[in-house]
Amino acid sequence: MPARKLPRLEPETAFFWTSGADGALRIQRCADCGTYQHPPFPRCARCHGAALSPEVVSGKGRLASYTVNHEPWLPGLPVPFVFGVVELAEQPQLYVFTNVLAPIEAVRVGMPLAVGFERHDDVWLPMFREDPA
Ligand SMILES: [Zn+2]
Repeated sequence: MPARKLPRLEPETAFFWTSGADGALRIQRCADCGTYQHPPFPRCARCHGAALSPEVVSGKGRLASYTVNHEPWLPGLPVPFVFGVVELAEQPQLYVFTNVLAPIEAVRVGMPLAVGFERHDDVWLPMFREDPA
């Protein structure tokens, strides 16, 4: 199977793509106002502070919206697959865009999700599955 195209590890985003090494999802959080933000950015979008660092989050969320892709979008990714907008439990409108591993007929907006990781070399791709809890 051809290798899947992987995200590049940039200084600002490397923590996100390698976070799954210990099984935990990390999201950038502002130490001044407590706001989480994703994708990572050098300044807090709410208070413009620069005291930002990765923080472990629950890895739980819900599906805010999704698309079903039938095109072989990436080599190594079987089709059809679900590409979802996951709203993390920590904060309203804190979104992660990623694959949702579920049968297409079972996918619905609002479904509870939990993170898992798929390792490719130095990258742990966060992916979400239905959270039965
Ligand atoms: Zn802030």
